[in-house]
Amino acid sequence: MRVLAQVAMVMNLDKCIGCHTCSVTCKQTWTNRPGVEYAWFNNVETKPGVGYPRRYEDQEHWKGGWALDGRGRLVLRSGGRARRLLSLFANPDLPSVEDYYEPVTYDYDHLVSAPAGPDLPVARPRSLLTGRPAAVTWGANWEDGLGGAPEHAGDDPNLSGSWAEKVRFEFEQTFLFHLPRLCEHCLNPACVAACPSGALYKRVEDGIVLVDQDRCRGWRMCVTACPYKKVYVNHATGKAEKCTFCFPRVEAGRPTVCSETCVGRLRYLGLLLYDADRVAGAAATPDARDLLEAQRDVFLDPRDPEVAAAARESGIPEDWLDAARRSPVHDLVVRHRIALPLHPEYRTLPMVWYVPPLSPVLDAVTGAGGDQDDPDHVFAAVTRLRIPLEYLAELFTAGDTDVVAGVLMKLTALRSYMRRRALGEPGDDAALKAVRLTPGDAEELHRLLAVAKYADRYVVPAAHREDAAALGALENRCPVESPAGRRVPLGMPTLRRSGGGRP
Ligand code: SF4
Ligand code: SF4
Repeated sequence: MRVLAQVAMVMNLDKCIGCHTCSVTCKQTWTNRPGVEYAWFNNVETKPGVGYPRRYEDQEHWKGGWALDGRGRLVLRSGGRARRLLSLFANPDLPSVEDYYEPVTYDYDHLVSAPAGPDLPVARPRSLLTGRPAAVTWGANWEDGLGGAPEHAGDDPNLSGSWAEKVRFEFEQTFLFHLPRLCEHCLNPACVAACPSGALYKRVEDGIVLVDQDRCRGWRMCVTACPYKKVYVNHATGKAEKCTFCFPRVEAGRPTVCSETCVGRLRYLGLLLYDADRVAGAAATPDARDLLEAQRDVFLDPRDPEVAAAARESGIPEDWLDAARRSPVHDLVVRHRIALPLHPEYRTLPMVWYVPPLSPVLDAVTGAGGDQDDPDHVFAAVTRLRIPLEYLAELFTAGDTDVVAGVLMKLTALRSYMRRRALGEPGDDAALKAVRLTPGDAEELHRLLAVAKYADRYVVPAAHREDAAALGALENRCPVESPAGRRVPLGMPTLRRSGGGRP
């Protein structure tokens, strides 16, 4: 057992109001510079929708993430080392500016410098790439609130199954929810494995994936390999850039900017301990529907004395162990199992997890003439929700609707129980028992999901610079070997930290 710690995030999608504050504050902090005008390290998509860049989830087309070869070995979809080298100068699997969008500014100067005339002057859009007048026809947030859905949303790659006929875009038959996205800081990052220069690396001490700007040669293999399309090329420097998980803040024990400013207070940050020796095996799990469980199996219980001893041996400091025991992420992902990873079938073992959205389920019960206190009526409503289970399953469980239904039933039972408690109504705990929750679990989940304070949502221990050398010496190797046996440069020493994420 080789214990490592990872700073991870959970988002509760029921509470996202799609205000984009997270995206804007992230942009102001990290990408408000020439060359990355089009880049949003954090973006918020409306689902259903094609996303940003367009149809990024279509891996048949973009070749992102990992797949299993005929012998069950993990291989990058973008091909082995030979294929990547052959396409160094002409990579066919890169999104173009049309797939992202052409960033524009407005000719504000014209408003004050136009000569006097009969018409009011206007500020026309100008391309930030060419400086020429531009037509605004797409954007990172074009589909916000289902804008243009009848025309575009049918192209959402998640709507490929026969069940997709259930999804309608006519007024009063639609559903939508917001999906905030950032780099997943994966346990098995395809971007790191694809980089020919060793510029991308995963920090051994906290799992944050960064780009070393001095090593990056601009080959862009990472852009192709990332199935979430969360590596961007800076057109001014020609180098790759990506979400840094706000590492200077995290090192100081502070939450990321997107978390700190989230209006819905739906983000949680905390540590997960994991067994690095089990990562490669989990990522190579044969059936994609078993990947969620395989990834959960990689996580370790920080309260287990054996795990704690192994963690100490790995050089994980005592206050980090304590933080791992108080981690809201561990509670939501491992203990209560209500958070799910985005597209586990990409096999990168993503570390930003989501509590799936529950459409107004109690209304659905009463609307169908049911009893809100009858578990059978309440759970039956889960299968009739406005957001089809199949759609959520495509996003979070590689198509396994039973797992999504199980999570939604837990949330439904919790809601029904707490509602009765709040109204002082009598009743038993049948709904809770049916989903194997105790009243104590329900109280704890309610506290976490509904009323958690700042200190409960963000449990981020400060970095230990005095341990940098020990951590670097401990492990400078990767839990995942590339198919060619080449070591993926994962787990770089802390000493690279200061130069690591330089944007
Ligand atoms: S989500 Fe982040 S860590 Fe994972 S492959 Fe993409 S860029 Fe790399
Ligand atoms: S700030 Fe929070 S509520 Fe607003 S869009 Fe971002 S994640 Fe959603």
